[in-house]
Amino acid sequence: MALTGVQIFKLLPKTNCKKCGFPTCLAFAMKLAQGGVELSACPDVSEEAKKTLGDASAPPIRAFNLGAGDKAVKMGGETVLFRHDKKFVNPCALAVNIKDNLGDEELAATVSEVANSEIDRVGQNLRVDAVSIEFASGDSSKYEAAVKLVAEKAPDAALILNCKDPAAAEAAVKAVASRKPLLYCATDENAEAMANIAKENAIPLVACADGLEALSALTEKIQGLGVEDIVLDSGAQKAKDIIEHNTQIRRSALKKSFKPLGYPIINFVLRDDPIFEASIASVAIAKYASIVVVSSVEKWKNLVLFTVRQNLYTDPQVPMQVEQKVYDISEPTADSPLMITTNFSLTYFIVSGEIENSKVPSRLAVMDCEGLSVLTAWAAGKFTAAKIAQFITESGITDTISHKELILPGQVAILSGALEDKLDGWKITVGPREANAIPTFLKGR
Ligand code: SF4
Repeated sequence: MALTGVQIFKLLPKTNCKKCGFPTCLAFAMKLAQGGVELSACPDVSEEAKKTLGDASAPPIRAFNLGAGDKAVKMGGETVLFRHDKKFVNPCALAVNIKDNLGDEELAATVSEVANSEIDRVGQNLRVDAVSIEFASGDSSKYEAAVKLVAEKAPDAALILNCKDPAAAEAAVKAVASRKPLLYCATDENAEAMANIAKENAIPLVACADGLEALSALTEKIQGLGVEDIVLDSGAQKAKDIIEHNTQIRRSALKKSFKPLGYPIINFVLRDDPIFEASIASVAIAKYASIVVVSSVEKWKNLVLFTVRQNLYTDPQVPMQVEQKVYDISEPTADSPLMITTNFSLTYFIVSGEIENSKVPSRLAVMDCEGLSVLTAWAAGKFTAAKIAQFITESGITDTISHKELILPGQVAILSGALEDKLDGWKITVGPREANAIPTFLKGR
């Protein structure tokens, strides 16, 4: 049974040393009782207390990896219902489902799309994380061959073995055991056999049942059979059911410490219409799925889902920002143009991308405005003529360049006069209002 904050407090060192980030041991204990922090955040807690705290110190949603190696994706470990309370920590993995009865060529082509799905967006590498191989042929040797082919062609992708036949699943698991595949799935009918395979190979197992009552009974059964790393599939297909089931699962785990549902969630959202599928997948990502499985890998769809995921899993309390400095773009020389912007990540990546597109080697001075965009920083008094002048002067850029011309974002053209007054001997040029006009602007100079 979960312990209260006061019961937990009695087991802590009570030194109020603050190493956990809380001002007192009592504050830490209260947060731990709510599931908002992990016991490991206190480095001085005794082994005896760790043992006694038991369930209270375990994360309310079990955390473990999908896949193995550097590119393994961490799942679970979430502690809040809403991202304005605290950030969501482990971004939802995206997987594509392929059938083992596709021809080798088609199979290899889809897998290669997965392997090449990586894109860079706002400084982060985003990609399709996993491949689900479905046992559609009914032929276990064909299934094993398809699983091996996928494993070989997509060495960084996690594998989901989508096979309810224990005999076929066992052979396939053994073939790729070192990749720690996720086994999909245990049902009421095959739970014992599937649990044995998962336990023997130390791999996670999906529990699949129709509805939450049946699902929690199944996870208890599987756990009783010795499997600890479990993923939940409530059978939800429609957007309404995904929202309802996933929310109930997250609430039960966090608010009621209901252990049978304290696991990551997988949603299969396969649809014939790719736009409809992308919409349902977005709903699942937004509502607590740890793995979303789609039916095809298309660049436009990947970008939509990557963007949804990235936006949800950034910390809303910490602006995304880049380091304040003057960035060289495309090997500038001493007389290359010098532009300036703020350190909001999205602004930096868009502006630097457009400068790159122009193919005009340039410098971009990025000023620390606490992660605000240009207009917001100007309105907040952080991107003013005096502050820009101070930044440019202190940056030492005049030692590197042979001119004194600074290109100002068009949206703050109003600053140009004041800036010329503050930066003695400098020419201030007003650049484009929108980043997409930068290439034309730079090429036309
Ligand atoms: S780190 Fe441990 S001992 Fe120190 S204040 Fe936090 S809970 Fe107390």
